[in-house]
Amino acid sequence: MEEGRKGKRRCTAIVLAAGQGKRMHSQTPKQYLELGDRPVIYYALKTFQDSFIDEIILVASKDEIEYCSKNVVEKYGFSKVTKIVAGGKERYHSVYEGIKAADCDYIFIHDGARPFVTADMLERAYRCVIQYDACVIGMPAKDTVKIADGEGFAKDTPNRDTVWTIQTPQVFSYDLIKRGYSLLIEKERELLQKSIKITDDAMVVETLIGQKVKLIEGSYSNIKITTPEDLQLADVLLKDGFHP
Ligand code: C5P
Repeated sequence: MEEGRKGKRRCTAIVLAAGQGKRMHSQTPKQYLELGDRPVIYYALKTFQDSFIDEIILVASKDEIEYCSKNVVEKYGFSKVTKIVAGGKERYHSVYEGIKAADCDYIFIHDGARPFVTADMLERAYRCVIQYDACVIGMPAKDTVKIADGEGFAKDTPNRDTVWTIQTPQVFSYDLIKRGYSLLIEKERELLQKSIKITDDAMVVETLIGQKVKLIEGSYSNIKITTPEDLQLADVLLKDGFHP
């Protein structure tokens, strides 16, 4: 971790908070809903703030930048947040805006809707990215996964021992992820025509650059808050002693 602190290897976190959270069925975007007595986004920001990460770029919806600046960044004293940039329509557009605003050696891309990222995960991901250039946090699947055909029938069953569900942070050397995302934006129309949907950052470097991405274990508690049940579960996890 010393190298990060001395700035030889500069680490930037992109924390994404520009989603609308339609599956939450709430007027308030999920990252600003209350968890404990704080907004959901507070917890991830606090973990990054207290870590070896040098700088945080927060990506928010254009019309929520001011709210986010006053009610989150200033209110809780997140001094490592140096920029709040406007996100885009899809998650990958928001990530690209964050990447363009960064200048570092390693980038940690994190969903603001995942409050339970820990310092330990960040440190393990940092050690891993130094070795492999691309590293994502996830967990081996507990359930059997089925691939469905277009009519809702099971088409295939991957061997469960090889299936992981992927979380964030996803961590990359900056040049690699910048190259991947630039290519993605360039080829966006072509990919959409082929019905290729980019749902995480690892896919960008796997698909467009052919770079291998190392998987490391996060935690089954590192949930993403998507639906109302997730918020209830997050309350339980928080009461159970999670401290950022
Ligand atoms: O929609 P999903 O649950 O995949 O969102 C994951 C994260 O990406 C959330 O923190 C959300 O705020 C963010 N996001 C974004 N810009 C979008 C869509 C999602 O920053 N256009």
